[in-house]
Amino acid sequence: MSGPIHIIGGGLAGSEAAWQAACAGVPVVVHEMRPLRMTEAHRTASLAELVCSNSLRSDDAGTNAVGLLHEEMRRAGSLILSAGDANRLPAGTALAVDREAFAATITRRLEQHPLITVAREEVAGLPPADWTNVIVATGPLTSPALAAAIQQLTGETELAFFDAIAPIVHHHSIDADITWRQSRYDKAGPGGTGADYINCPMTRAEYEAFIDALLGADTTSFKDWEAATPYFDGCLPIEVMAQRGRETLRYGPMKPVGLSNPHTPHARPYAVVQLRQDNALGTLWNMVGFQTKLKHGEQVRVFRTIPGLERAEFARLGGLHRNTFLNSPRLLDAELRLRAEPRLRFAGQMTGCEGYVESAAIGLLAGRAAAARPKGGRWTPPPPTTALGALLVHITGGHLLAEAEAAGRSFQPMNVNFGLFPPLEAPSHDAGGRRIKGRERGMARKRALCARALADLDGWLSAAHRAAAE
Ligand SMILES: Cc1cc2nc3c(=O)[nH]c(=O)nc-3n(C[C@H](O)[C@H](O)[C@H](O)COP(=O)(O)OP(=O)(O)OC[C@H]3O[C@@H](n4cnc5c(N)ncnc54)[C@H](O)[C@@H]3O)c2cc1C
Repeated sequence: MSGPIHIIGGGLAGSEAAWQAACAGVPVVVHEMRPLRMTEAHRTASLAELVCSNSLRSDDAGTNAVGLLHEEMRRAGSLILSAGDANRLPAGTALAVDREAFAATITRRLEQHPLITVAREEVAGLPPADWTNVIVATGPLTSPALAAAIQQLTGETELAFFDAIAPIVHHHSIDADITWRQSRYDKAGPGGTGADYINCPMTRAEYEAFIDALLGADTTSFKDWEAATPYFDGCLPIEVMAQRGRETLRYGPMKPVGLSNPHTPHARPYAVVQLRQDNALGTLWNMVGFQTKLKHGEQVRVFRTIPGLERAEFARLGGLHRNTFLNSPRLLDAELRLRAEPRLRFAGQMTGCEGYVESAAIGLLAGRAAAARPKGGRWTPPPPTTALGALLVHITGGHLLAEAEAAGRSFQPMNVNFGLFPPLEAPSHDAGGRRIKGRERGMARKRALCARALADLDGWLSAAHRAAAE
């Protein structure tokens, strides 16, 4: 393989990928269509423009998964994180940035790097055949011509243009004294046991109060360009269903049929909310049919009224917006290459991660992986115990794909969160031998997950450094 790495899209992922590859000594060409052609959300010609919030979220690397991802990226020499640190604004424990100065820093550092060329042009179809090492990082608003070409290459159903996502709950926060495990009519289904769902029961009074809360809750508004995109069949937001009639949900995602509550054997539930396992580890559970456009604070308030979810911790809240992303677990290999055409590697939100930091993180991995090949080396992915590795595994294999597809569901984008990490028993005693109780136990578990991640990341980085020097 010879010639430069061609990176299509100079957003969060493409900028980080370019930096990582160039720092590994490989020439890069970044093809960015702005300002010649703008997206619906970008406003400037800068690389790595933040299209909405100016926050890279929590910077707490001791107890927060995105803060941990920040620290891992810093240790891996991330351009996005160093520009974030250089342009930081006061925001408590969050890493908020001056958006213009942040993007200007990144643009300047990429344009000044001797191995990087920035070409201002749209790649309006599949890249030419002589581009043998390509990273596609064109983001949620990929230009239509390229999206159509990728759709043709991957198949009609493998590229999504809309997200309708239901909330995901951490398993440990679901109350097992109120809920029970059962599949409808105890049917096992492909790969199932007959007890695959977690069920939350509701009495009539609880259901009526829930419908009132839903109808009274505040929803987010569509952006102009989103408003024209119709809802897909089968993914109406629950609050829209509730507006169509108070009983609609009881005949839809909350129907109580085929389920009996062992905690109250003589009283059938009036309605049931079901949760389905969402990752292979069993740490994350998806609220079935609960896609919603309620504001995030309202989702937490309303969904915690559901019996069994009073103390629910949400790994992801529901949402509905335009987004271009691949069915990555099916299409990409463990190095983010398209199985059908391995010269094409994908990065950023297109791969099914969600968020500025996550997109840049996948760019970091794609850049390093792409740079390993021209130098004749093999690339080893980061361990799944690290935030970088956990995110990569979610995208390329951690999702329960076969089971999900059998149930008519698809791969959906995800923020980094501790539910993606291989579980770790919370320490029972602190360093002084004192017993750790209650809420402190959860924090101790998060601290242990972060410590394990950073130790494993350091090992991975040292091994990569040694391999590059050989
Ligand atoms: C409206 C909106 C608001 C969002 N708000 C937030 C938020 O507040 N916080 C958060 O964490 N995440 C947010 N996201 C999600 C997401 O994390 C960001 O969109 C993030 O920028 C994705 O990074 P990326 O590198 O994958 O794509 P982008 O940063 O969008 O970069 C893609 C780049 O590719 C270019 N491009 C597209 N097609 C072509 C082509 N054919 N040829 C050449 N160049 C092309 C684009 O111009 C763009 O510069 C938001 C997404 C959207 C759509």
